[in-house]
Amino acid sequence: MTMTFEHVTLGQRVLFGSGAAAANLAGEVRRRGAGRVMVIATPSARPLAERVCRDVDVALWWDEVVQHVPVPLAEAARTAAAAHGVDLLVCVGGGSAVGLAKAVALTSGIPVVAVPTTYAGSEATNVWGMTEGRTKTTGVDDRVLPETVVYDATLTTSLPVEFSVVSGLNAVAHCVDSLWAPRTDPVNRLMALEGARVLAAALPRIAAGPGAVAAREQALYGCYLAAVAFASAGSGLHHTICHVLGGAFDLPHAPTHAVVLPHVLALNAPAVPERAARLADALGRPAGPGQDPAAAAVAALHGLCRDLGAPARLADLGFGADDVAEAVRRVRAAAPPSNPVPVTEAAVTALLTGALTGAVPGPR
Ligand code: NAD
Repeated sequence: MTMTFEHVTLGQRVLFGSGAAAANLAGEVRRRGAGRVMVIATPSARPLAERVCRDVDVALWWDEVVQHVPVPLAEAARTAAAAHGVDLLVCVGGGSAVGLAKAVALTSGIPVVAVPTTYAGSEATNVWGMTEGRTKTTGVDDRVLPETVVYDATLTTSLPVEFSVVSGLNAVAHCVDSLWAPRTDPVNRLMALEGARVLAAALPRIAAGPGAVAAREQALYGCYLAAVAFASAGSGLHHTICHVLGGAFDLPHAPTHAVVLPHVLALNAPAVPERAARLADALGRPAGPGQDPAAAAVAALHGLCRDLGAPARLADLGFGADDVAEAVRRVRAAAPPSNPVPVTEAAVTALLTGALTGAVPGPR
């Protein structure tokens, strides 16, 4: 059998070390010769950010950060960056802080150094997202890819267990969606499956003991692999659905991923059985003798989510039965044509209804 593929690896410097963020960031600011640093961090992340930036001269602190980056907020941050002559953006926080830095970089070209404190993985992608009205728009632009990422697991120990779990499942979603996304290839699938393996081992340890730095280090490593795979493979059906639910219905990002993912896997896994078998393996719950690999993968993911105590119903996140028809329309309009099974009205309706009510997912 011959192998043909086109693979792109994005260029990015990664400095990984627990307890080393402040030294790594200061070294990076020096190395780049930056003199006008803008730090983006929410008020609750400010103490963390001050710790991380203790050896950096900060020209501008920016603390207004909103999930899914409303366009007026992006414009206000861009204006402030220009007014202060900013030459380096440093974001300390989750995907929302990284997202605002990306929005400023998109129009200004100012480089970004990201110091992530969740497992969302935005720091390793060239994908930006902004929301106007009820529509979330995403795009791909290399200007928004942070030039350097500083990972430090000690910055994540304050992340509450409940949020760590859903944020970790957001990273697992990058792995799973990479198995069938528009640019999936053997290289990004390798990273996706290794990311899934590392995350599936680390998240139960975090759920059992939130302070566990060793487990959090593994989760950060897994989230990086997951995000690199996702950036390379592109956005698949799962991300289309979550963008619709986040943008049009204002559902919270990470919990929505945790609820929806097993249902998307149930739809797509039967069309990619070999990848499903490898996923079940990676999740530490391989298919038994004679077991359908798609059923094994769905059971493995569902079991992981259940064991972690993740949310299981969109109804608990603010989505209602009345919202299903509009969501189905929006998902079908944006779904990738390359999805391994047709994205029919019946399939998306069944998927969203199952996710709404917390039905046990199973291959269709
Ligand atoms: P978030 O950044 O909104 O953070 C959630 C909450 O956790 C916030 O209140 C934040 O202040 C708090 N928090 C963050 N780190 C903490 C820590 N270490 N300790 C205590 N509290 C902490 O949530 P998120 O899930 O990281 O990011 C979601 C956003 O990221 C969404 O807008 C999503 O679209 C975007 N995203 C983008 C990409 C991409 O590739 N472009 C990828 C993933 C997520």
